[in-house]
Amino acid sequence: MRLVLVGPPGAGKGTQAEFVATQLSVPKISTGDIFRANVTGGTELGIEAKRYMDAGDLVPDEVTINMVRDRLGEADAADGFLLDGFPRTVPQAQALDKLLADMGTGLDLVLELVVDDDEVIRRLSGRRTCRGCGKIWHVEFDQPQVEDVCDRCGSELYQRDDDKPDTVANRLRVYARDTAPLIGFYGKAGKLVGLDATGPVEDVTARAMAILSSYEA
Ligand code: AMP
Repeated sequence: MRLVLVGPPGAGKGTQAEFVATQLSVPKISTGDIFRANVTGGTELGIEAKRYMDAGDLVPDEVTINMVRDRLGEADAADGFLLDGFPRTVPQAQALDKLLADMGTGLDLVLELVVDDDEVIRRLSGRRTCRGCGKIWHVEFDQPQVEDVCDRCGSELYQRDDDKPDTVANRLRVYARDTAPLIGFYGKAGKLVGLDATGPVEDVTARAMAILSSYEA
């Protein structure tokens, strides 16, 4: 299956993407994770991306699209993938359609994680990310056994700069302006399915899997 997850920052895309990709046995491709790995590695791409990420702005389309083109060309993505955080603009969505058409394929479904603004702010401000494996925790909803230490790999947890209050406000503005138009874009294409992303993580995953299995059937 070739899937895209869209939704505002804090809707739980990263968390759901992990579960759903595992259940479907497809790679989860997160542009945010790839950018963060490049920032950590101090690559040229990372240095460029960091300027935008720290402000809560989008990395320019051209840079992002080239990066995704390379990633989708890797062997593990040949039979399916789950994209998390890409596309984030209509030009990125158009580029993705073209890229997949050139590969002789196309998207199956776009899942829109639906959650209101107040909930998004609560989720983002409590979110903590593992420096080692990237797993996402939450100070209120999903605490590790030892504060600020990842249960999965033992590394330290931190608050991403872009989860700090001023940047969160900007990310929500950027979402409304640049990313929300994707809802109409994919709706018109007949690919969009809404997913209620409120409530416990496992419930959201179960709802996602129910949608996907009815699609496959
Ligand atoms: P995320 O982890 O998906 O919230 O992404 C973190 C940051 O990486 C975003 O706020 C952007 O600065 C950048 N980023 C991730 N994906 C994209 C994308 N598709 N287009 C532009 N910038 C992106």
